Amino acid sequence: MTQEERIFIVPQDIIAIGCECSHCKSTFVVPVEKIDRVLAKCPNCNERLISETQPSSGALSESTVFLNFVTWLKSLQARDFGGNIRLEIKGEVKPSA
Ligand SMILES: [Zn+2]
Repeated sequence: MTQEERIFIVPQDIIAIGCECSHCKSTFVVPVEKIDRVLAKCPNCNERLISETQPSSGALSESTVFLNFVTWLKSLQARDFGGNIRLEIKGEVKPSA
């Protein structure tokens, strides 16, 4: 028998957003309420973290997508929905002993 764990969070559970530099592996964690700009480059090694370049495909830039996500997350956190909004995150499947 296996046991599946389902984990749900509410939008208010997300208190910070972290980022890891792919080059030097430095990590940065910023409280959601303090995010008002994009960390485009690693402060340690200057590697690109989030691009501000507009793709030629017409798609949104990485920085626009990131800031849109933060805006919508803050809006979700500030509202009182009639139904309790839950976000499911990956759980673990554990074999029973
Ligand atoms: Zn770095």
